[in-house]
Amino acid sequence: MKTEIMITNDDGIHAVGIKELEEGLAGLGNLTVVAPDREQSASSHSLTLQRPLRITQRAPNRYEVDGTPTDCVFLGINHILRDRRPDLVVSGINRGGNLGDDITYSGTVAGAIEATLLGIPALAISLDIDREHHFATASRVAREVAEKVFEHGLPAATLLNVNVPDRPWEELAGFRITRQGKRTYSDVVRENADPRGRHYYWIGGEVIQGEDVEGTDATLVRAGFVSITPIHLDLTNYRAFAPLENWEWSC
Ligand code: MN
Repeated sequence: MKTEIMITNDDGIHAVGIKELEEGLAGLGNLTVVAPDREQSASSHSLTLQRPLRITQRAPNRYEVDGTPTDCVFLGINHILRDRRPDLVVSGINRGGNLGDDITYSGTVAGAIEATLLGIPALAISLDIDREHHFATASRVAREVAEKVFEHGLPAATLLNVNVPDRPWEELAGFRITRQGKRTYSDVVRENADPRGRHYYWIGGEVIQGEDVEGTDATLVRAGFVSITPIHLDLTNYRAFAPLENWEWSC
């Protein structure tokens, strides 16, 4: 049976990154794109429950959904591809890095989280955009990582969060397995007034800097490496067990 690969993203089905991803994965299997009809960046792991969703088929293997990346993966696996369960879900290529704390906001990573919850190996891939927008580099990286996942499989409940520096393939420093780092966001809230004089607030949310911590995604991508962070869906902090058990509980 032919390998089935499902592709999604959070920048929307018309984004450059998803087309580059399709090109990068071409020939590895049967590709099906199920992606949001518009940008859904920072939608996190949001599932739409309060309104119906529409699926529009744009081509034989191309579907757009008026929802989040999580909706796309849920509908893709449980409905569109219900008779040919994907062997891999790839989410991206995001326009911008998903480093450190970004993971908690990211719709790109959430697409991979949803697939992982549904028991399908998944990876998220992001280009840490600088000036040049080397999506072709990230596309080649996606192919290599996908091939490795097919070869080795993934540990249980684990997805790969892949970040690629914005540079030509020849200038990559290498691949590194990393841990989640730390990012600092600007705390700017811009207050303004609409034409009717009512105030509105716009969250800036720009990254000021990544803390330089050894072995982390942000640090290694800045040094020119492709960073691969294995993300586990058990969010329990096992190191907190001992101190919490020492609190004096009433019974
Ligand atoms: Mn995005």
